[in-house]
This record gives sequence, structure tokens and C-alpha cells, in this order.
Amino acid sequence: MKYNIEKINEIGKLLAEVVEDAIKGEGQAEVLIGEVEMVLRESLREVGRSALKSILENGAGEVETEIECACGGKLKYQRRRAATIWSVFGKVVYRRVYYAGCACGQGQAPVDSRYGIEPGKVTAGLAHLIALSGIQKAFEEGRKWLKEYLLFEVSENTVRAETQKMGELQRQAEAELVQTTQDEFELQKRERSQPPAPDLLYGSIDAAKVRIEPRHEKEKATEDREIWRDMKVGCWYEAETVPQRQQSVRQKDKIQREGVVLRAKNQQYFCDIEKAEEFGKLLWATGCAVGADRTRLLVFICDGALWIWNLIGHYFPNAIQIVDWYHAVDRLKRIAEEAFSNAQERQAWLENSTEDLWQARVEAVIEACQHLAKKSNLAKQSLLYYANNMERMRYAQFRAAGYLIGSGVIESGCKQIVAQRLKLPGAQWNVEGAVLTAKARTAWMSGNWHKLVSARSLLPLAA
Ligand SMILES: [Zn+2]
Repeated sequence: MKYNIEKINEIGKLLAEVVEDAIKGEGQAEVLIGEVEMVLRESLREVGRSALKSILENGAGEVETEIECACGGKLKYQRRRAATIWSVFGKVVYRRVYYAGCACGQGQAPVDSRYGIEPGKVTAGLAHLIALSGIQKAFEEGRKWLKEYLLFEVSENTVRAETQKMGELQRQAEAELVQTTQDEFELQKRERSQPPAPDLLYGSIDAAKVRIEPRHEKEKATEDREIWRDMKVGCWYEAETVPQRQQSVRQKDKIQREGVVLRAKNQQYFCDIEKAEEFGKLLWATGCAVGADRTRLLVFICDGALWIWNLIGHYFPNAIQIVDWYHAVDRLKRIAEEAFSNAQERQAWLENSTEDLWQARVEAVIEACQHLAKKSNLAKQSLLYYANNMERMRYAQFRAAGYLIGSGVIESGCKQIVAQRLKLPGAQWNVEGAVLTAKARTAWMSGNWHKLVSARSLLPLAA
């Protein structure tokens, strides 16, 4: 939409007069800019409300005596009927032309369908801002923040509902993707119209615990009072080298040691509280959307729970599998802690075995653990861990090939989705609420938020 800037400037001058009058009327010795700003913001909100009201009351064109009903019958002009919407300017009550009297019993307000309005509800523009606060903060806290930004109040329940509606839209988009990628014919049809896949694509999967409050008697019985559930989180991403001027001190150190520093880009997150099998379908579907099924090289970096490698092996058998470097090293640290009381011996063992791991001499690491098996339970348990993951720990080869070897992307993803939102103080979740809020958050983190906002404004109107 284009608008006439000269007319807008006129309105600005008028508004300035209004505010100047108000300042004079106060008779105060000094008025600070903050006060002026506040009066202007409130005034602009009033201008917006009254303009919106006027547009909605006059926006359906001429009043007809009779119009066609969706059922094919006739609707007669009845009268103006009041409706309410919540907009970014606050509550707007408008009296719009209303038609009724069809045999099917449905009435119609043309202005509502013309602008995609659901009377009594929140506009898509306001819903987007409300949900944005709900994915960042506890709903009650989000409500308080919104009041500062919007200058009017919405309820905690509205924040929850709008946030979860965005999650629901994300879930629908994922469900559609799952459906088309489970169907071989649809998949082939899709592939022909897809943009080229990146040459090298990464994937990571992890899980984090979410506390669920069993609310209903039934839930308590069926879930056996199990209150911790795994939020499974996945991410697709690419890597790029960090330009020299953007390198942090830590990264400069890393370059000294490792020659190159990579960072993730184009992260696409997805999550669910589901069994591994169901999550696998989401992995495959989101993977197809970013070209994981067509890329030349696919690399998975994970911390290595068995269900994760099983899913990867099932859906992407040709992918390169890497155990996250930091998890593999952290285990050595914990073994050293447990096995040595002498700091010097501990340090020497750790340095040696870390260097072996770095150079992909996993057999030597296993041997080093074998020596400690009598002194440390963890060392004993780890024999199997390093033996099972030997091929996934060829770090020297992976580094030579220029791959990332750390799963920082997924660690950060779990932190952002679970720790920084679902674990905020005062949070009480059922599974549905936790999943929808988390899914809405992944849409924001993946840069897909505005797709959901458009999808929301295109939602079919409730009857
Ligand atoms: Zn009808």
C-alpha cells in the first residue's frame, strides 16, 4: 500500500498542536522529552484506533438491500452490528453493515471477510507481537513487557494462546512436510522443483529434559507420574569460516591451534516430545526441505545416544557420523578426575590421551583407559564407548577434510529452546503447551517466523 506523505505531514502538524496545547495547559516550568514522547505515543495510538474504526465502518462499500450468501441463498441487509477486535492500537469497537435472514441461518459482515477479521479476536499484526513475547519470556512476564511496548494490557492467557497458536501453525507446516516426504511419488515431484542442495550440509540431534506437571487424574495414571520428558531437538546447518575482523579472542587462539575456525549458518531447528520413531519422520521431512537427501556430503555431529545414531543410520545411511569432539574429550577429563589423586599424573595422562584423540589414535585412547580400568569405573565403562565410536572419532581425517567436529549448534539450540524458555521460573507445562511453545520458538530461531505470521493471517475465518 502506498500513502500520501503530504497528508501524513499535515496530520503530524495537527498532532504537534494538540501536544503543544497539552503542555501549555499543564503550566509546568519544564517538560522533559520523555513526557512529550509519551503523550505523542498515546495520541498516535488514539489516532490509529479511530482511523481503524472509521475504515472498518465504511470499508465495505455501498450498503445493498440484498447480497448473495455463501450457500447460494440470499442475505438481506439487517442493520449495523457492533464487533470488537484487538489491534496493535488496542481495542477497537466498530459498527459494521450486517446481512442476515438466509434460510441456512448464517449471517455475514462483508467488511470482516474483506479484511480477514475475526470479531472478538486479535489481529494478525498484534498476534505476531504477542507471540514474540511469549516465545522469549514466561507468559506473565511477557504480558508485563507488552504493556510497556503497546501501552495497553493483554491477559496472560492471551499471551499463552497466541504463542501456542504460532506453535500450532509450525506443527501443521511440519505435518504437511512429513506427509509429502513419506510418499515416494510426492517426494519425487517435490525434488524436481527444489533449489539445488548445498554441497556440504550438517545435521545434529540432541535431547533435553522438560518438566511436565501431571494435571489430570488420567494423565497421572497413564504416564505413571512421569514428570520429566525428553524434548528432542534437531538442527540442519551449513558452515562458513569466520572472517578475521570478526574473530573473538577465543577464536584467534583456536586458529593458532587448529588452523581454521568455522561457524554455523542457515540453522534450521526442529523439535518435539515424541518417540524416536516419530521424531525420525520429522528428521527426514525437515532434511528433505533443506536438501539433506540430495547434498553431496552430509555430516552428522552428535553426542552419541544410541537412538540418535540409529535414526541417522536408518534415514541417511551414507552420512558421515562424528561424535562431538567436546563430549569425547570431556569424558577423558572425567576419567582422569576419577583415576588420579596426583595432579601431575592426572594432567600428564589427560594431555597424552587428548592428543591421541586429536590425532585420531583411538586405539591408543582405549589402551590408556584399559590401564585405568582397575582404578576407575568410568574408564572401564568407556572402553566400550571409544570402541563403538572409533570410526566416529577419526578427528584427524575429519579436520583434514575441513569438517566441523563440535556440536555447539545443537548444544546452543537445546539451551535456547529448553533452558532459556521452558525452564524459566514459574513455568508449568503440559506436554502440548511445552511442545507448541518450543515449536514456535524454533520457527523464530530458524528465520521462519514471518512465514507463520502470513499463514496466520490467511487462516480461514471461524464461523
Ligand atoms: Zn445461506
